[in-house]
Amino acid sequence: MSYQHSYDRSIAAPADFWAEHAHDLAWFRKPTEILRDNPDGTHQWFADGRLNSCFLALDHQIDEGRGEQTALIYDSPVTNSQQTFTFRQMRDEVARLAGLLRDLGVQQGDGVVIYMPMVPQAAMAMLACARIGAVHSVVFGGFAPHELALRIDDARPTLLLTASCGVEFDRVIEYKPLVDSALEQSSHQPRKVLVLQRPQARATLKDGRDLDWHAALANARPVPPVELGAADPLYIMYTSGTTGKPKGIVRENGGNAVALRFAMKNIYGMQPGEVWWGISDVGWVVGHSLIVYGPLMNGCTTVFYEGKPIRTPDAGAYWRVVEQYRVNGLFCAPTAMRAIRKEDPEGLLLRGYDLSSLREFFLAGERLDSSTHQWLESISGKTVHDHWWQTETGWPVTAPCLGLDGSGGRAGSSNRAVPGYHVRVLDEDGQLLGANQQGAIVITLPLPPGCSQTLWGDHSRYLDSYLNTFPGYYHTGDGGYLDEDGFVYIMGRTDDVINVSGHRLSTGEMEDLVARHPAVAECAVVGVRDEIKGQVPLALLVLKDGVGVGEAQLQSELVATVREQIGALACFNQVRVVKRLPKTRSGKILRAVLRKIADQQAYTPPSTLDDPAVLVEIEEVLAGLARAG
Ligand code: AMP
Repeated sequence: MSYQHSYDRSIAAPADFWAEHAHDLAWFRKPTEILRDNPDGTHQWFADGRLNSCFLALDHQIDEGRGEQTALIYDSPVTNSQQTFTFRQMRDEVARLAGLLRDLGVQQGDGVVIYMPMVPQAAMAMLACARIGAVHSVVFGGFAPHELALRIDDARPTLLLTASCGVEFDRVIEYKPLVDSALEQSSHQPRKVLVLQRPQARATLKDGRDLDWHAALANARPVPPVELGAADPLYIMYTSGTTGKPKGIVRENGGNAVALRFAMKNIYGMQPGEVWWGISDVGWVVGHSLIVYGPLMNGCTTVFYEGKPIRTPDAGAYWRVVEQYRVNGLFCAPTAMRAIRKEDPEGLLLRGYDLSSLREFFLAGERLDSSTHQWLESISGKTVHDHWWQTETGWPVTAPCLGLDGSGGRAGSSNRAVPGYHVRVLDEDGQLLGANQQGAIVITLPLPPGCSQTLWGDHSRYLDSYLNTFPGYYHTGDGGYLDEDGFVYIMGRTDDVINVSGHRLSTGEMEDLVARHPAVAECAVVGVRDEIKGQVPLALLVLKDGVGVGEAQLQSELVATVREQIGALACFNQVRVVKRLPKTRSGKILRAVLRKIADQQAYTPPSTLDDPAVLVEIEEVLAGLARAG
């Protein structure tokens, strides 16, 4: 079927379009009500459908004759180990783990927090929750205890699953002390903590609360998948908003299953039996959609990689994995390719491997700069596709639709809208803009299946964050434009969110931490360009009069604070003292102007600016950074 035909139909008749795509999913009960309009502007897909996501990912694949096919390949250069699991083995392990969760008191609808490194048990834990209708919330292992505590207090889990340690190429990171510290900081306490002991560092278990994973599992009995409603939540994925409180994006079982099946087939062009590699971590949305649920629900073998693009052991790591497992399709973030390019600019390591199984590359998570795009195409001889999505959507908004004759990208664009997404551009007053005019990127409601329709425990924040700014549209928070043929160009966030190595972080949260320092009168944190990471945060500070602390000392104290409270993933290293920050006459810091200067974009000083001279100093500071970089 042609892309254009599908797309037009999905916009003209969304319910009919998605009813057709939902039809042959292995529902326990097929939905008869496809799309319901809620009075608050949200939508409910497949309201009366009944299904189970773990059943679709594992049991159903066995029913379809894939029991002996490899479901998951665990490849861990950091521990020098590899392991494969067939769909049957995965199902059996997951069914027993689900039985254990139930024995430990986890019931349908309960929260379960998973704070684990990239070990197969993390995927099994997610699927085990899905099997019994518990709502998992995976927290990225790089987050510091404070961040974990925030998520524990919001998700209020019955159980927390963790491992004794994560393993990096040069060190072992003990997880258990981080979990213990988080639980000291959180007011909510899970009933039990299940700890997977890894040989690289064994954790001390706290009597009465902590349980050894393997010992507990030895006595567990397998349980079958429960029947869930399409609207029942499958998981919560926390993402950074503009404040310090993370947003708990809720994904529903029904929409997610339909959307991911559609995406794997029609966007990524993957067939059952093929090998897919989503290079990310289970702690991010990609880990949910493109490492666990998407590939498995589509009968693909998923590669589960505990390593890095470089230094595990070298910048040929990705090429080794592609050759070894005959990977057919691959997703990664541009930052990984920039890291490889830095170490191996000529692609010499790549030449030593057979990449003939790989059809193309899909990159997303942050802006794909044209230089990295061209470099990857030239060293690999394969097409590189840019595509754009968000934690909230759970699957691509714009992408080439390889399963629908939709190839053929355009330089600088992350491709055209995927069927289901009516992407438009609005000006500040909510008026539609024409081709090549830059503004706020929005999606006309209804959002297609799979996109989040609420935030965990805070529906009004969902409405405020996404639907209330421009009534009738979902507000993506990204700025950009569409060209005359509908190709979408993403220019960056229009809010206080930055993207460091494909990870979304709140500058507002960093500002809160920086502002607490006794020497700081006021501050602004903005994202500045970085050659490898895309963006990194920069703090601009105005000091209180007469403080006796030097800039270097202040910098090291603030860097330590952010590292301790948010984590090393924030890459918060740059602090500059300035005399003043640009403000409106009413005293509000003009962050939008700072963002534009940092991005080296043209800007017009707003008429509300109290003193234009202040911008000269800021420009000098930021230009100095670019020269130093
Ligand atoms: P996350 O929810 O962490 O996946 O971050 C989503 C944000 O990453 C989007 O709102 C964009 O700002 C950015 N992003 C994702 N993919 C792309 C892309 N292909 N090009 C530009 N920015 C992207």
